[in-house]
Amino acid sequence: MRIRHGIWSALCATLLLAAPLASAAGAPAKDALLLPDRVWTADGEAAHAGWAVLVHDGKIAAVGPADAIKAPADAERIALPGTTLTPGLIDLHSHLFLHPYNQTLWNDQVLTEPQDYRTLEAAAHAKATLQAGFTALRDLGTEGAGFADVSIKRAIDEGLIPGPRMFVATRAIVATASYGPGPRGFRPDLDLPQGAQPVTGVDAAVAAVREQAARGADWIKLYADYRVGDHGETMPTLSPAEIKAIVAAAHQIGRPVAAHAASEAGVRNAVEAGVDTIEHGYGTDEATFRLMRQKGIAYEPTLTAVEATSEYFQHYVPGKSEPTPAMKQAEHAFRTALKVGVTIGNGSDVGVFAHGENWREPAMMVADGMTPVQALHAATNVAAHILRQDGQFGRIAPGAFADMAAFAGDPSRDIQALQHPVFVMKDGVVYRRP
Ligand SMILES: [Zn+2]
Repeated sequence: MRIRHGIWSALCATLLLAAPLASAAGAPAKDALLLPDRVWTADGEAAHAGWAVLVHDGKIAAVGPADAIKAPADAERIALPGTTLTPGLIDLHSHLFLHPYNQTLWNDQVLTEPQDYRTLEAAAHAKATLQAGFTALRDLGTEGAGFADVSIKRAIDEGLIPGPRMFVATRAIVATASYGPGPRGFRPDLDLPQGAQPVTGVDAAVAAVREQAARGADWIKLYADYRVGDHGETMPTLSPAEIKAIVAAAHQIGRPVAAHAASEAGVRNAVEAGVDTIEHGYGTDEATFRLMRQKGIAYEPTLTAVEATSEYFQHYVPGKSEPTPAMKQAEHAFRTALKVGVTIGNGSDVGVFAHGENWREPAMMVADGMTPVQALHAATNVAAHILRQDGQFGRIAPGAFADMAAFAGDPSRDIQALQHPVFVMKDGVVYRRP
């Protein structure tokens, strides 16, 4: 192992940055001709029957009617009967370092699970995510596991472990004593590990941005509100001045900002401060959604997180019980954002529920008012745009990375087809085949 790592570090220094993932994952991928029943490219409404995709050197070389594509004689022909090929899916709100709260409560995960163990779990979660057809993730905070997401991203990029392309946020930024675990509910003489980096004041907020960015944060995540009210109500935490300072410091060095905000007041503070995305947003008013649209701020509704916590803690049974008040509030916000025309990206808060079940969010977006095609866009080209990766992935188009997935059936007609991935390719490397 030592020799292998020695070779890796020598390679990393010279070759790897120039010729990244396909070669790192094994032998250079040879040309492949993908032959599904139909292709949904993310450029239009309908899937194209009888189309094929040619992959060369980790990129999409051609897409179109199968008989119009001239594949090299030695290209591997991969038949995908009964399937629809789509761009690799994207989840803009994940937590690879968490697992479902009905297995272990969040407090107990953060307080009792060693970071080493959580990192190994995160590797397994990354693999499950890729196998589900999700080829890119924005992972919004390690929840007490420090900067370990940077190592997971690196191990994926170097081909040590399988996983999606990662956009990471490291520790996330919270107001002092306004997140968890504790201090509420714990004896006051305990010094508890924290689920994010606490700050008070503009200077500390700016320092946290700079430190997280230097350690590898692609995005800065802040918490604009949390359950800090007298009776646990969600109320603003970071001050408007602190949020503005975080946004300015992050933007100055090219890092976009994602804001956790569930209350109208918290969303308002974050939107007025100029964050790039709002996460959850369950209590957002129509006027604030209009301001988001005007300012080009995207929205990740995380509907599945609400459904999952309703199941765990409020006896909600999918398909049987009435939606809980929290689910109704989330649905109302989602329908309002849809009506107003806010950019909606697929972000599920997976980790609250099982990794690899990311399909549940697009399915819930359809249950709450999107068409299947709209939900697919939210999980492909729209999500890639929110990640500032237009042209890199999120569409099946010549020149883009060969990140694709095939599902039994046709998810552009029936979103539930996303439950049945049969083929996954990332960077031209096949990770799942029929
Ligand atoms: Zn989250």
